[in-house]
Amino acid sequence: MYNRLSCLLPYNRLALVAYPKAENIRDRQAGKPVVQEMKKWLRRTAIAFGTLVLLVAGFLSYSYFIEPRQFVVVEETIAAPNWDLRLDGFRVVAIADLHTGSNYAPPERIRYVVEQANAQDADIIVLLGDYVSEAKWDQQCVRRATNRENCTELKVPVEEIAESLKGLNAKYGVFAIIGNHDWYHNEQKIHRMFEEIVGLTVLNNEIAEIDVSGTKVRLWGIEDLYLNRRVPSEAFNSLADKSNVIAMTHNPDSLLSAPAGFAIMFSGHTHGGQLNWPIFGPKAVFNDPRFMDGHVEVDGKHVYVTSGVGTSVIPFRFRVPPEIAVVTLRSK
Ligand SMILES: [Zn+2]
Repeated sequence: MYNRLSCLLPYNRLALVAYPKAENIRDRQAGKPVVQEMKKWLRRTAIAFGTLVLLVAGFLSYSYFIEPRQFVVVEETIAAPNWDLRLDGFRVVAIADLHTGSNYAPPERIRYVVEQANAQDADIIVLLGDYVSEAKWDQQCVRRATNRENCTELKVPVEEIAESLKGLNAKYGVFAIIGNHDWYHNEQKIHRMFEEIVGLTVLNNEIAEIDVSGTKVRLWGIEDLYLNRRVPSEAFNSLADKSNVIAMTHNPDSLLSAPAGFAIMFSGHTHGGQLNWPIFGPKAVFNDPRFMDGHVEVDGKHVYVTSGVGTSVIPFRFRVPPEIAVVTLRSK
């Protein structure tokens, strides 16, 4: 074969043909470390990418399928100012952001929450707004100053939510206020259905007084802050005796504009951020970052924020499981 080629090819070409193996071996030897490095890099990249995909998939599965199904009863004791010694040990169950129909918050879940709340042997139960969850909503309608009722279509109708809440019961009563998602839908309807079907008291910038063994406790229900960007204080200011006042409002940012003098405010709205990142913590998107969750005092005013039961905007909960809170009030 070489003999025949040598007849046909010029000398220099012949040399190439005559020593191909030696040249290729040298090339391969020089390239070997480069190829090995490439392989190592590719393997590492594949492992890193695979780990990332697994982590993201694990995070999404956990925070969609597992955590929203959990349920915790958080207990807290707070020494409140302007709270009578005779009311020491008064127990309040706080329930917020049911968002009925959101991820793992169907009506059966609401009935379970009712059972759990009733089991706490509370003096009062406060419902802190956002009972509904939207299937569809009209942003333009929500932003309008007037005629903004029924800007949303609900996943579960108000009547069914009220039916699910039936039987909620505490020694001195159950009190509710309206959240932003509620008035986006229909505040009047929710107000009426809750009073007629559940038999609780909805407070809209008004005060209910209860008698606890001869001592008066006042429940002050305040409208949602997003409604008119204010905290109407006429009802509170008109009180001759401002002791033993429990304020209730959906958005804890209301604390900053509320007049001082009440014992404690109960709020929801934040959902505790819904995602509580390790190291970085929850991200406050819709509220003052001080009011993510739990007890906070600002300028001598106290608020307790419960991170609620359902979800909104995104259907995930991560390290903020659905909860109700049992707060025991102590005299300061
Ligand atoms: Zn909410």
